[in-house]
Amino acid sequence: MLCPECQAKNKTSTVYLRGSTLTDLGYSASAPGPGGPHLHDPNVLSEAFECTNGHRFKRETRKPCPKCSYGHGEPVFTILTPRAKFQPGVTE
Ligand SMILES: [Zn+2]
Ligand SMILES: [Zn+2]
Repeated sequence: MLCPECQAKNKTSTVYLRGSTLTDLGYSASAPGPGGPHLHDPNVLSEAFECTNGHRFKRETRKPCPKCSYGHGEPVFTILTPRAKFQPGVTE
């Protein structure tokens, strides 16, 4: 795991996982069709990271469906406010 901001600036850093949350939406697999059911899990795993240069970002991933392209997209990275520039009242 590399920090996307450090990567862009050719800096080196160590990235730490600061916490993760998983949404808790119920879902059920679709009725089995040819080859088995689709598994369209709407839950998103959100993990927050922080690098040793103070950059913060989160990664959101879904469970991929074994039968179609659902959930197979690249993880979504969102850059959060760096710790050094943190301002109270700014919502993330
Ligand atoms: Zn960084
Ligand atoms: Zn599917």
